[in-house]
Amino acid sequence: MIISERCSFCGRDKRKEVRKIFSGPGVYICDICIRICADILEKDQSGTVKRHDLSEGLIIPKPREIKEKLDQYIIGQEKVKKQLAVSVHNHYKRVKSRGQSEDIELEKSNVLLIGPTGSGKTLFARTLAKLLDVPFAIADATSLTEAGYVGEDVENVLLRLLQAANFDVKRAELGIIYIDEIDKIARTSENVSITRDVSGEGVQQALLKILEGTIANVPPQGGRKHPQQEYIQINTSNILFICGGTFAHLEKIIEKRVSHKSLGFKIVDSVSGEKRNLGHVLSYVETEDLLQYGFIPEFIGRFSVIAALHGLNENDLVRVLSEPKNALVKQYEKFFKLEGVTLKFEPEALQEIARRAFRKGTGARGLRTILETMMLDVMYEVPSEGNVSQCIMTREVVEGKQPPILIRGGEWAQTA
Ligand code: ADP
Repeated sequence: MIISERCSFCGRDKRKEVRKIFSGPGVYICDICIRICADILEKDQSGTVKRHDLSEGLIIPKPREIKEKLDQYIIGQEKVKKQLAVSVHNHYKRVKSRGQSEDIELEKSNVLLIGPTGSGKTLFARTLAKLLDVPFAIADATSLTEAGYVGEDVENVLLRLLQAANFDVKRAELGIIYIDEIDKIARTSENVSITRDVSGEGVQQALLKILEGTIANVPPQGGRKHPQQEYIQINTSNILFICGGTFAHLEKIIEKRVSHKSLGFKIVDSVSGEKRNLGHVLSYVETEDLLQYGFIPEFIGRFSVIAALHGLNENDLVRVLSEPKNALVKQYEKFFKLEGVTLKFEPEALQEIARRAFRKGTGARGLRTILETMMLDVMYEVPSEGNVSQCIMTREVVEGKQPPILIRGGEWAQTA
């Protein structure tokens, strides 16, 4: 006699009424009951995780506290730090006030960062997420397309945030998303691409919806949406979007506007009379410049803060190497310490690394590559050497004129 397998909880028959049934010793449970249990567990959890319960304990640091934390990781960019500290504080204040009976609804705001490569745009977004302890995701605007074109749907940006939040929708809805290369979706003749609409406006429209706040349907597996798919619904009205880009040639538009409006205003170096400071020019950016750059007014209207980062100079780069909490030099020192070796960078060595990185024109990004190339051999050799107590990096080492100085048991030597 065949005994039919029935769910021990609801009694449904495996063969007729359910899609899947799981068995344990003498018991069965069907997929429907599993789903109900998961729902109950999720509700329990959202009740107990007070930190992210909007009506209760979301701890919002004060602008000054945010700025102090940013100072520990980011060199320079003082004005941007202040702008972001205030706007992030206000953003989460608004999030907290939602749902309370308020006569004035505070409008959603996002942040636009304009600045050269390697000036800290991504670092700002990442550091803010870390200090607020909210999920964080990075997306690239160049891979996004409006539906119907080859590329990613904008909802995939939200999927990354969901993944970062371990698919906890409530937590994801408080997260931060950084969208890089936002300048590449401007409507300009230079950005024409066969993989998306010619004007670039379609992507702006698609992004606009999630920036201003909507209930988005996110396909859990990613890729293109299709009708048979199940979706995860995510409300984007509390997600903080930080968009960044280098905005090549924007300074020309700003200069033109400024020189039209005010006769006394000149963006020229007072000493040389010609050399412009890119960061300085960008700090005069206004909405109308961005419209002229190729953005639609509704899109730009979603950003309450437009902040300009300046390019890092050589001295800034020296500081980036050694001052931040997780500075590259500090990281190398720690690696060496684990091997029982004291690593020392002479000031001239740091200056030379900064000089070389500055010449590359990729801001602080160049520092890592230079250091990695320079440190490879010594990182390879030292663990096998055994008796090395100190490793000294001089300017000549950076220039490739001599190998790092290794001190073995108090005695001076140089690697072969
Ligand atoms: P961007 O997004 O502006 O191109 P990133 O934020 O990705 O630049 O910077 C690349 C790396 O350079 C970061 O990981 C960080 O280590 C370093 N960096 C850039 N700018 C700064 C800064 N202002 N202070 C400290 N480190 C910086």
